[in-house]
Amino acid sequence: MLLAKGYEVHGLIRRASTFNTARVDHLYVDPHDPKARLFLHYGDLSDGARMVTLLADIKPDEVYNLAAQSHVRVSFDEPEHTADTTGVGTIRLLEAVRLSGIETRFYQASSSEMFGATPPPQNEETPFYPRSPYGAAKVYSYWITKNYREAYGMFAVNGILFNHESPRRGETFVTRKITRAVAAIKAGKQDLLYMGNLDAVRDWGYAAEYVEGMWRMLQADEPDDFVLATGGNYTVRDFLQIAFEHAGLNWEEHVRFDERYLRPTEVDALVGDASKAQEKLGWKATVHTPELARIMVDADIEALKHAGNN
Ligand code: GDP
Repeated sequence: MLLAKGYEVHGLIRRASTFNTARVDHLYVDPHDPKARLFLHYGDLSDGARMVTLLADIKPDEVYNLAAQSHVRVSFDEPEHTADTTGVGTIRLLEAVRLSGIETRFYQASSSEMFGATPPPQNEETPFYPRSPYGAAKVYSYWITKNYREAYGMFAVNGILFNHESPRRGETFVTRKITRAVAAIKAGKQDLLYMGNLDAVRDWGYAAEYVEGMWRMLQADEPDDFVLATGGNYTVRDFLQIAFEHAGLNWEEHVRFDERYLRPTEVDALVGDASKAQEKLGWKATVHTPELARIMVDADIEALKHAGNN
């Protein structure tokens, strides 16, 4: 989206022994090409000094902190690592902005997971009650972002985004796990899908629309915090039914329970109220959960066809 708006974009990537840039490879242009506008740098939010030197070099107008260990179930297995990246990583980045002396606007990816056990509808006034190491780390990052805004006058905002998905969603999040399985079952490559709690209620929106909302928060006259959500109310079971039906399949024939996908403490229901974003940013979700499920199923069926042709 930023490239389409004419921005030069600098992204942080973590060094691993295998390549992990698949989701941006289609955007990549050799940096020797004068038309190149996307640049990738090695770095990690666990490395504060690296953040300072990078920011001082690049001098960005806007910083979007989307970095995190972002999987709720995994945060129970790796709580300390989650706290270090999802929580302390944010203050390292905010400190790096301060220490590098640059003028920049800062976006913090806050999360509906911060509301946790507080019942819906949830908006900017709703008390936080996180239910996972991930949610607790995001609450820390929310408050430290607000504190840097108040303490140092930084243009720093929290976007409190409800679940947002697309065909690029990580394969172990529930929506993509379901839509990939639908494609594989439809193609006769898989028969069963093992799932956890089907009663959880979520408000799933389309990531392509949510990034526009994030950008609008940084273009506002004053820094402020906003919820982005569709207001829709669907269970995991509803998502299963919509996705399987779209491919002409009956979900009950293919889905089985496996307790390994349960969380020690669950977030039962997240349904957002984004009226502040609509009023102040003119932002409103137009793609609702059923359409999103169909977009993702179609994309996974298409991807599997291509995989078959190779
Ligand atoms: P989250 O809302 O950030 O935790 O996003 P997820 O996509 O990981 O999970 C959404 C909801 O789906 C949670 O309430 C999970 O407990 C529920 N769920 C049920 N079965 C599964 C599963 O097999 N995998 C995942 N990731 N979530 C599941």
